[in-house]
Amino acid sequence: MVRSKTKRSKVKAKARRAAKDSKYVYSFGGGKAEGTAKMKELLGGKGANLAEMAGLGLPVPPGFTITTEVCTYYYDHGRKYPKTLQASVEKNLGRVESILGAKFGDAKNPLLVSVRSGARSSMPGMMETILNVGLNDTTREGLIAKTGNPRFVYDAQRRLIQMYSDVVMEKAAGIEPEDGKGIRQQLEHELRKLKEARGVHEDTELSADDLRGLIETYKKKVLDVLGKPFPEDPMDQLWGGIGAVFQSWNGRRAIEYRRIEKIPDEWGTAVNVQSMVFGNMGDTSATGVGFTRDPSTGRKIFYGEWLPNAQGEDVVAGIRTPLPINEAGKNDHTRALASLETAMPNAYRHLEKIQQRLEKHYRDMLDIEFTIQEERLWMLQCRVGKRNGVAAVKMAVDMKKEKLISKKEAILRVSPSALVQVLLPMLDPKAEQATSPIAKGLPAGPGGAYGRIALTADEAAEIVEKSTGEDAKVILVREETSPEDVHGMHAAQAILTAKGGMTSHAALVARGWGKCCIVGCDAIEIDLAAGTIQVGEKELKRGDWISLNGTDGKVYAGKLPLVAPNLEANREYGSLMGWADDFRRLGVRANADTPEDAKRARAFGAAGIGLFRTEHMFYGEGSEEPLGKLRRMIVSSTEAERRAALDELFVNVKADVKATLEEMEGQPVTIRLLDPPLHEFVPKSEDKLRELASDVGIGLDDLKRRADSLHETNPMMGHRGVRLGVSYPEVTEMQVRAILEATAELLRAGKKAHPEIMIPVVSTAAELAHQYAIIERVYGEVAKKTGVKKIPHLVGTMIEVPRAALLAGDIAKQAQFFSFGTNDLTQMTFGFSRDDTGSFLPDYIASKLLPEDPFSSLDESGVGELVKIAIERGRKTKPDLKIGICGEHGGDPRSVEFCHRAGLDYVSCSPFRVPIARLAAAHAALAK
Ligand code: ADP
Ligand code: MG
Ligand code: MG
Repeated sequence: MVRSKTKRSKVKAKARRAAKDSKYVYSFGGGKAEGTAKMKELLGGKGANLAEMAGLGLPVPPGFTITTEVCTYYYDHGRKYPKTLQASVEKNLGRVESILGAKFGDAKNPLLVSVRSGARSSMPGMMETILNVGLNDTTREGLIAKTGNPRFVYDAQRRLIQMYSDVVMEKAAGIEPEDGKGIRQQLEHELRKLKEARGVHEDTELSADDLRGLIETYKKKVLDVLGKPFPEDPMDQLWGGIGAVFQSWNGRRAIEYRRIEKIPDEWGTAVNVQSMVFGNMGDTSATGVGFTRDPSTGRKIFYGEWLPNAQGEDVVAGIRTPLPINEAGKNDHTRALASLETAMPNAYRHLEKIQQRLEKHYRDMLDIEFTIQEERLWMLQCRVGKRNGVAAVKMAVDMKKEKLISKKEAILRVSPSALVQVLLPMLDPKAEQATSPIAKGLPAGPGGAYGRIALTADEAAEIVEKSTGEDAKVILVREETSPEDVHGMHAAQAILTAKGGMTSHAALVARGWGKCCIVGCDAIEIDLAAGTIQVGEKELKRGDWISLNGTDGKVYAGKLPLVAPNLEANREYGSLMGWADDFRRLGVRANADTPEDAKRARAFGAAGIGLFRTEHMFYGEGSEEPLGKLRRMIVSSTEAERRAALDELFVNVKADVKATLEEMEGQPVTIRLLDPPLHEFVPKSEDKLRELASDVGIGLDDLKRRADSLHETNPMMGHRGVRLGVSYPEVTEMQVRAILEATAELLRAGKKAHPEIMIPVVSTAAELAHQYAIIERVYGEVAKKTGVKKIPHLVGTMIEVPRAALLAGDIAKQAQFFSFGTNDLTQMTFGFSRDDTGSFLPDYIASKLLPEDPFSSLDESGVGELVKIAIERGRKTKPDLKIGICGEHGGDPRSVEFCHRAGLDYVSCSPFRVPIARLAAAHAALAK
């Protein structure tokens, strides 16, 4: 007793000590660093990578990182910092001062810093960064004396006031001004007014005196609008900046972004305080961003954009049109512009070496930020770069061939969901050739899209919410996008911006989501008030159709058709999928109901059909004839009537099954016997009813009576699946005869066929035995009739009723295979009607009562438990029982991963998702 008590108090004391000694600040720069790239959880992505670069000896302006733990502490303790933080920050600031020989707040030799946010995973544009912290009317004189460049110093100061008043004094203070009335806009308005008065276009054309005057105007405006003076004390500025970064973690934009990207709220952000370097000191200074490979195509060229005499945000903000970083990266638009390669060859060569070294070091494509101060290069950020799916596949395969990464790594580099983009529809090339684009922009997100023009994010979101089908397709057309537009960007089919480059907000966000996107399309002039966009002579209105080719950057008026991509021509895709197939254990089949679907499924790499629904022939095109026969069968009142109708239907079922079996050339085809409640097929309109009555040869009233008798209160749990075959054994008989005869005939013709007969909605072994007896009898009859002694086939069942999962041991005695129908299994396990979830499920997701829609991603803890039970009990009875899944979940990467772990033999999904399932299955196998 006593001992354990001492032990406990010792542990407590240790925890207290740990909390007190906690290291909240990590330094970097001056040739070394306390952190590394591996410490992203603690230092955030930006801080960890700054540390890594500094550790590699690259030129990184010295600074320090305040950890994400401080953010967590801050929110857990009523927005207060740990006690030791202030001292640690001051100590680390001192270290930076001594490296640089300058002093924060010093009147003669002032140090300036940036305050930068940095979450674990990048949240482009979501968090706040403040530059030039430490400038005031006193320190600026020191800096002017030191640099001899008053214009630059005034420019830096006016930027500080602009950023600080916006980020710290307005946003972090929770002030939400009306649209267009924010302090940032008001200050920008002052800047515009000044430029107009001086008759100049670019900020860079303003004189030092202009800017000094502007600073005074800004300060007055800040006091006027926000009721507080801009803080002159550098320490106040620093702590204000740090607080604002932490505050921004819980800003509206950041929360929205985390919701969409599924980033946990608990992660928190780190804060980086870093000494400033200046890209705005004149024409020998510059700033820019780059990618070690082209993020939209995957091509192995150093790709990037830069601006001379500019500071950080300028390149990404789309205020000035950025220039291409090198000659190789130029396109039709940028041909005539000056590249960094030619403008500052020395700095460029240094940068080029560093980017190569970083890519080798990280063994991945990186996104980097740099600044050149008077010809001298400084690295400000690096991180693994976002890329679209097409580029991801190419880079992974190329890097494997360059021996930078292994085959396994190459597979794991491409997320199954990113693969969707490779399979993405594109504008029909024939349609593109037949017309000409109205404008060209930069291809920021591949694939094709069409939609109606929406000019604001709210408008886009509203149209999508209020319309259905084709009408709900919009293209968001903006001057440029900002984090406030995220909801509209999400709702839109595609995004088109008039300004901005490949690293603009729109491009980054679209790339992250795999959305079609064109940026920097400067031929477009948007008139928000008139609701129009002007492209040369042509005028389009909001609501008009436009089409985008995001792979080439072409914009078309009108609605161009979309077509599937040419996968055969994509060699990297072929290699990657081949490698994935070598590593996966799970088989992948497709759900296909027609020979055309079957063909598509095989082209996507399916090894069989996991679900062929016989009822398909009664829906859609060409269904009139078989549907008429089915209807006659349904409203029959005697077995003789029913048999007569079934005899006619037999011809259609057999032809349908035969064509699909033939297409699959001996690969297994799981054919499900008729599943839906019959009432679904009874005509609704008076006309059709009358037609059917005369067809059957009975009166309309009589027919209505028969139809009404089929009506069910809860048809999803009514007379469907095996229950039909129990009431009407002749229905089962007809289908089985059609399947076996089709198979026998194919064999006789020297072809291969392998059907698997699947009985749906089974809940007892007795039901299955009942059906099995029919199948056995029909088998004998068909063998005799066709003279084929051995007709290959399996008989199995769907497991989609919880009772069947629980009694799988019994059921397995009668079944040669199981296939989990997880749509129905989810419906019946939750008791959620599949067709009615729209009214409540969104509330569940919003209130976090459920992590996500269990109909799109398998509910592992509930439904998954039933799956595991069924597998265990089924295989106990029959160790070689073949087990698959044929619900929608078969194409969902997370569910595929579960199926692998649970020991299924195969998954089956829609043809289009087959490649995704193949890759997901390889990921699952490699994850072990
Ligand atoms: P984000 O997370 O939005 O990329 P950053 O913290 O990277 O924000 O900062 C925004 C811009 O400011 C970047 O272009 C960056 O290069 C620039 N910047 C940040 N810190 C400094 C610094 N110490 N010196 C010069 N430029 C900086
Ligand atoms: Mg950055
Ligand atoms: Mg079902």
